[in-house]
Amino acid sequence: MKPTYADWNPWHGCTKISPGCKYCYVYRQDEMYGSDKSSSEVSLNADFNLPVKRKRDKSYKIPSGTVVFTCFTSDFLVEQADEWRTEAWAMIRERRDLTFFFFTKRIDRFAECVPGDWSGGYDNVIVGCTVENQTMADYRLPIFKQLSIKHKAIIVAPLLEQVDLTVYLDSTIEEVSVSGESGAEARICDYRWILALRRQCIEKNIPFRFHQTGAKLLKDGQLYRIRRKFQISQAYKANINYRIGEDRKPVKERENI
Ligand code: SF4
Repeated sequence: MKPTYADWNPWHGCTKISPGCKYCYVYRQDEMYGSDKSSSEVSLNADFNLPVKRKRDKSYKIPSGTVVFTCFTSDFLVEQADEWRTEAWAMIRERRDLTFFFFTKRIDRFAECVPGDWSGGYDNVIVGCTVENQTMADYRLPIFKQLSIKHKAIIVAPLLEQVDLTVYLDSTIEEVSVSGESGAEARICDYRWILALRRQCIEKNIPFRFHQTGAKLLKDGQLYRIRRKFQISQAYKANINYRIGEDRKPVKERENI
């Protein structure tokens, strides 16, 4: 059966902490919609308790088996949300029939943010450690490696330079997902950096996904400007995703972006 997907944004707003945050999409969206609040102000959303909300017939609004993209208008581990996170974890615990997936640039806060019964991790939580350059990879991924988390992914976004993840790729990593940067001021992403990451994943037999091209993609010396609505589909069309057990055709046969 095909999985269903839902978004759960318990809080909104975030503070910038590293180069990847420079043109943060949360800030861009707030500006686009003329929000009167500063994007660095973190506030609870009305749908805070969405995972446990019920319909008239008492069944949960989010059906069992759904993958819930969690906290995509903030960082789940942002300091200003510390007072609300215990309740968020309680909802995640209650809905063990859902899979919660969040990304964070604050993996160094993870250990102090987990609930008391976390132990080896919850089966229903996937944590994506986000890195954008080599410095952040070398800072965050050794921490990530040490953490007890049942399902781990590395999110390389926005990819700002060539990055070598080789030493961090082991069988605990379920996927490496790579994206360029979106937005009017996006920094250029070089397609060779993406292919280099793909090669590293294939060598270590780790699933790889080119998730999104970003707005400015440099390929074969040509700069492609890609509109937001095509950034995911164009990445998919590149046909360079790698799943364990798939054939390993040379990249040249696949990079038809
Ligand atoms: S951590 Fe994520 S959500 Fe927060 S400012 Fe940086 S890019 Fe934006």
